[in-house]
Amino acid sequence: MQTKDTIRELVDGIAGRLESLRDSLYDFAELPYREFRSSDLLIRELERNGFEVVSGAAGIPTCFYGAFTHGEGGMTAGFLGEYDALDGLSQEAGCTVHRPVRENAPGHGCGHCCLGVGSLGAAIVLKEYLVQTDLPGTVVYYGCPAEEGAGAKQFMARAGLFDRCDFIYTWHPSDKNEVDSAHMNAIMGANFYFTGRSSHAGAAPHLGRSALDAAELMSVGCNYLREHVIPEARIHYAYIDAGGTAPNVVQDRAVVRYEVRAPYVYQVKELYARVVNVAKGAAMMTETQVRDELAMAFTEYLPNISLAPVASRAMRDIGGPVWTDGDQELGHEYLLSFPTETQEEIKRAMRTQYGAGWEESWTHPMDSTVRTFDVSDIRPLAGSTDVGDVGYAVPCVSILVATCARGTVGHTWQFAGQAGSVLGTKGMLAAAKMLALAAVYTFGEPERVRKAKEEVKERNGGAYTCPLPDSVLPPIETY
Ligand SMILES: [Zn+2]
Repeated sequence: MQTKDTIRELVDGIAGRLESLRDSLYDFAELPYREFRSSDLLIRELERNGFEVVSGAAGIPTCFYGAFTHGEGGMTAGFLGEYDALDGLSQEAGCTVHRPVRENAPGHGCGHCCLGVGSLGAAIVLKEYLVQTDLPGTVVYYGCPAEEGAGAKQFMARAGLFDRCDFIYTWHPSDKNEVDSAHMNAIMGANFYFTGRSSHAGAAPHLGRSALDAAELMSVGCNYLREHVIPEARIHYAYIDAGGTAPNVVQDRAVVRYEVRAPYVYQVKELYARVVNVAKGAAMMTETQVRDELAMAFTEYLPNISLAPVASRAMRDIGGPVWTDGDQELGHEYLLSFPTETQEEIKRAMRTQYGAGWEESWTHPMDSTVRTFDVSDIRPLAGSTDVGDVGYAVPCVSILVATCARGTVGHTWQFAGQAGSVLGTKGMLAAAKMLALAAVYTFGEPERVRKAKEEVKERNGGAYTCPLPDSVLPPIETY
């Protein structure tokens, strides 16, 4: 039997189990750093399969890793799992109208229920494969919380947790099947705490110094700053504390959160320093004080160019998920649930990509084709992910596998509903097979792994440097 068939059979053998784990994670739908039930469940499954688990890793209660070694020597393969949900996206699985399971509750709008379990499936199956074929090696599954929040992988990389791995594979639920060829932005995020002096806003306004004014002037300053940054840069903000609800009290406190993005981490560090200067200026203008508390930062994501072709070959050998007419119909129903404007945008994108035959992809939107990796496809994408830091510590590649209809917008109830349905199941099982097979192939290519490691060294200048100083601890309660 060919390796790919062995891997397929091994995943199919635990498909029911994986599906039920995914269903549990879908129901738990826990917020970043609060993934207690989800991480517990995944840990128990690893232990049941003979993995040795360390929990509470990198100073984060819901962070863990589990390792299994067969024989002596051999390479170490890592898989990344995520399992956090997004606030407000609760949705009944497989339902094509908006129907939250619990009103305003979190939901898996980024499909991390499939992500965490799919990678777990790959780890369990690779372990089985090593034992069955008596191939020496180690498998490590990394439970990575809070990807949607302040992240974990940069803290895990800083703690050296990935250093034992020769290579790491991961995946993300998507509307297509290919090696993730996006160059995703680096990001830094901080809370800015303004402190002023309260006073009666009517009787003694001259005695007050408004922290809220300072926060607003910071917004004005950043709006002017936007014209003088590189076009790829992004500056986002949100009010965390507007200083209370009484207009007749001069607000003596205000907290505003800023997140800045740019293609490379050195650019984002420069941009962040400029935002801090704007905050200082706002404080000076209002005679208030400001303190910035850096809480999160991710390095940019780029696929490892030496490893990517191996992942691509494994994807092609497994093949994309096989969809029935019913699956296609379900995917199409989800597309029809988007607002008209969004539907038009999806159709426009399909016309651009598929030309005259685009309507076929609109009515049959579930993608089963696998696109071969091509280094010239690497393109900038405005989003950010903490997987970037893993790729600056060890060779790392992320693949995208279809769990939803082409054009489905991320972070929506539609993305969640599909991740919890048969569409998510099929994508997740395909991903588990592809990741496990990619690892087996990589075990057989030590020369390529050596090149992949050189590539990492070239990127990071010899060793991983965390974009956060050692003094910044995981912001479990504050971010
Ligand atoms: Zn995600």
